[in-house]
This record gives sequence, C-alpha cells and structure tokens, in this order.
Amino acid sequence: MNSYDLVVIGSGPAGRRAAVQAAKLGKTALVIDKGSQVGGVSVHTGTIPSKTMRETVLNLTGWRERGFYGRSYKVKQKITADDLRARLIKTLDYEIDVLEWQFERNRVEQIRGFAHFVDEHTIEIEKDTGEIQRVHANAVLISVGTRPYRPPNVPFDGKTVLDSDELLNIPQIPRSMIVVGAGVIGIEYATIFSALDTQVIVVEPRDSMLDFIDREIRDNFAAQLRDRNVKLLFGAGADKVEKIADGKARVTLSNGRVLMAESVLFAAGRQGATDTLNLQAVGLEADRRGRIKVDPITFQTDVAHIYAAGDVIGFPALASTSMEQGRIAARHAVGAEAEEPPQFFPYGIYAVPEMSTCGMTEEEIQERGIAYECGVAFFRETSRGHIMGLQNGLLKMIFSLKTHRLLGVHIVGEGATELIHIGQAVLNLKGTVEYFVENTFNYPTLAEAYKIAGLDASNRIAMLEAAQQQQG
Ligand SMILES: Cc1cc2nc3c(=O)[nH]c(=O)nc-3n(C[C@H](O)[C@H](O)[C@H](O)COP(=O)(O)OP(=O)(O)OC[C@H]3O[C@@H](n4cnc5c(N)ncnc54)[C@H](O)[C@@H]3O)c2cc1C
Repeated sequence: MNSYDLVVIGSGPAGRRAAVQAAKLGKTALVIDKGSQVGGVSVHTGTIPSKTMRETVLNLTGWRERGFYGRSYKVKQKITADDLRARLIKTLDYEIDVLEWQFERNRVEQIRGFAHFVDEHTIEIEKDTGEIQRVHANAVLISVGTRPYRPPNVPFDGKTVLDSDELLNIPQIPRSMIVVGAGVIGIEYATIFSALDTQVIVVEPRDSMLDFIDREIRDNFAAQLRDRNVKLLFGAGADKVEKIADGKARVTLSNGRVLMAESVLFAAGRQGATDTLNLQAVGLEADRRGRIKVDPITFQTDVAHIYAAGDVIGFPALASTSMEQGRIAARHAVGAEAEEPPQFFPYGIYAVPEMSTCGMTEEEIQERGIAYECGVAFFRETSRGHIMGLQNGLLKMIFSLKTHRLLGVHIVGEGATELIHIGQAVLNLKGTVEYFVENTFNYPTLAEAYKIAGLDASNRIAMLEAAQQQQG
C-alpha cells in the first residue's frame, strides 16, 4: 500500500491548492477525484463555466454597448445554446491543461475514483474499472465540495426543470424561466438569461435577497433588474414544481400564485458531498446539509490529522476562499507555519450587473454602534464611464468618523469584481479616507470612482468635524 504525507479527496480549488502546497514543501501528495478530469465543481460546473457563459452572453448580445446603441442592440442576432457552449469547451480545456501541468510540475500524484475512509489513516478508492486500491495517509484533506440540492418532489429532467449543473447543457435558450432561489447562483443565472432576453421570474421565500450585501447596493441592483423586467417575487416559496404539456413547467407558490414558463432553474441551495465518505469509520459526522465542522484557523476536524476545506465546510463557499483554506490546511498538516489570513476578503457576485463587497456593510456598522460617514460615486461621474456609455454603477465607501479608517467598500456595476481589490488592499492595510483624497488615479478609469467617493466622504467628515469643534 502506497503511503503519502497528504492525501486530498477532491481536486477543486481547496484540494488542488493544498496538494501543490504540500508538494512545494517537499512532501508527498496524492489527489483523488471521482470526476473524469481534474478541477472540481469550480472548473466543470461552477465558477469557470458560469463566468464563461456570462462573458459569452455579454459579448454576443453587445450588452456593454447598449448604453450607447439602445436596448435592442445585438452583436449576433440569433444566439443559440451551441454559441454559449462553444466558448465554454475551449475555456475548460485550457483550464484543465493548466491544472494537469501544475500537478505534473510539482509531482502531485493523482488517482481517479471514489474515495472513502476505511480507518483514520487508510483510504479506499473505487476506480471506474471496478478496481479497488487502498492508500495510507499521514494526513487527509477532505475537499469534496457540494452538489446541487435536488429534492425528490422536483421533476428534474435536464430540459425543462434543471439544476445549475444541467443548465450548462440546455438544448435551447428558453423564452421564459422561473428561477427558484435568490441566492448567488440563482441571481447570477437569472440576470445572465435576462441579458439573453429570456423573461425571468425569481422566486424566493425570504423577503429579500443576498442579505450579506450592503442594502444601498442591493436596492440599486434590484432596481436595475426590475427596470429590465426581471420579476423578483419575494416572501413566498415554491411549493410545487411540475412539468406540464408543450414542454412547459408550472410552479405553485406558497401564497397560492401559479407561474408558468418554458423552464425552471431550481437553485435552492447545495448539499455537501460527504454521504459516501464513510465518515463514521473515523468518528466524524456531517450536519444535515452534509457540511463538516472545522477549527476556523487550522481547518482541522475533530480528528487532528484529518482536515476539511472548501465548500464542504460552508460559508463563504467561494473558489477564492477555498484555495486559501486548502493552502493553510496543507501547511498545518505537514508541520509548516501557516500565517493567519488577512481580516477582509472580497465577495464577488457575477450577475449582470456585477456586485462586489469587502468589509462591513452600513447595516453592520450601525449595529455595532460605530460613528461613520459614507462617500458615494456614480460611474457616470467618471470620464471612463462616459466613454463606455455606462448609465449605472455605484461605488460606496464607509469610513470611521473617529479614525477616518475605511470600514467597508461596496460596488455595483461594470468591473465591480476587479475594482474591489483597491478597497480590499486599503482595508487590510488599515488605510484611511486620506489615501483616496491624496493619491492620483489613472485617468480616465472607473477606479477614479474611488477618488470621487473618497472626496465625497472627506467633505462630509470635514463638515461634521467643523460642526463638532464649533459646539465644543
Ligand atoms: C454555478 C456556480 C457558480 C459559482 N461561481 C463562483 C464565482 O464566481 N466565484 C467563486 O469564487 N466561487 C464560485 N462558485 C463556488 C465555487 O465553485 C466553489 O466555492 C468551489 O468550487 C469549491 O471548491 P472545493 O475545493 O470545495 O471543491 P469543488 O470544486 O466542489 O470540487 C470537489 C471535488 O471533489 C470530488 N469528490 C466529491 N466526493 C468525492 C469522493 N468521495 N471521492 C473522490 N472525489 C470526490 C468531486 O468530483 C469534485 O471534483 C460557484 C459555484 C457554482 C455552483
């Protein structure tokens, strides 16, 4: 039986980063994945495919140019499902090639097959061929990720009623779609299909969506969606999903309302892929959503040499954070020092339009009772925004009144997921409003919005301070 310093189950962002990190530290690492190719959900059904589809849609529809040429402007008149897939295949092939090469270069070994625990140090792998192999692990990383939640009463068929994996292979672009679930995945796809002129209705049992985002940004985003006729139905869940005649689907809401469309995307959560790992053999347990509890600093489970990272441990469930968790877990597992991650990480929502957020929201700041002031810039105030024909886009920063330190940055609009990193750097380096006022930004850029919002906040802070001095 082969023995490894680190055995990783799952080759998604957490697993692959962990394996490469262990190998770079001179340790032996094995990655086991049941998929036919390396990369996990991130490469095959999640991050990369959805972002590739988004980019294809924005390019073929001419979405970014509509500010100038009008809502009916299109680069390609009849966009088909095959058009969406064409770019996807190319992008995925390239991603997989890069990952395979990374493993090879770092001498990370790989086995394709289903892995489960036999005991605390032994893992059994069931290969496609039926062959069974066992390996010994000094340390194990569980990075098996999640799969779409598929309740048995929803008639998934891959054509009319779909989960987010199946959506990537739709035979044709539907004229209408009901999206069940206003989480990140539901909202991203709802807005991507709306950009394709699909009539979209989003159904969500809660009274709002994406509550971790600053309310002003969320409201601006929701107003943009409503303006282009995306229906956001909050406060009633989908009680029943049915396929009906003519290839259509019907959704009955908990308030009795009945909706019909050519397709239903069921995006009401994901389930940790832990059910086949035989966790009981090592004395571990997953919660009802299949997630594993870990130490938030080291990513150790209750069994010290068994780690878990990525979506299988829950929030924030991002490829970006999964990679960092995997790296830190691997360092700890092989006895290398692991520095604590910086306090603030960005969250990107690749909807149309994009949103991104880092640090505290205005609501959180209010809850904590911190005295603050905001600075806001609209993209249309920047010359770059004019050149690009942007009619929407908003950047908001929140600063402490006492220390002038940046507390949070929130953006909706073109390039939000890239722009956020300026704010993130200032946040983690404990910068203040003066950074934005005193520094020169490239002109014309959207990043100039930071300068405008910084000046806005600085003026307000100065006024408040002057008033306080007068009173005092
Ligand atoms: C539609 C969609 C869009 C997304 N968009 C973004 C985004 O824009 N930005 C972002 O940061 N994140 C995004 N995410 C989230 C991101 O994909 C995940 O956070 C990330 O993939 C989690 O990585 P992971 O390492 O936990 O494993 P995963 O990528 O989930 O991979 C787990 C791997 O484990 C394997 N596996 C499972 N069980 C076993 C077993 N028993 N034996 C062997 N192998 C096993 C699976 O085959 C899989 O390959 C998106 C997700 C989805 C679904």
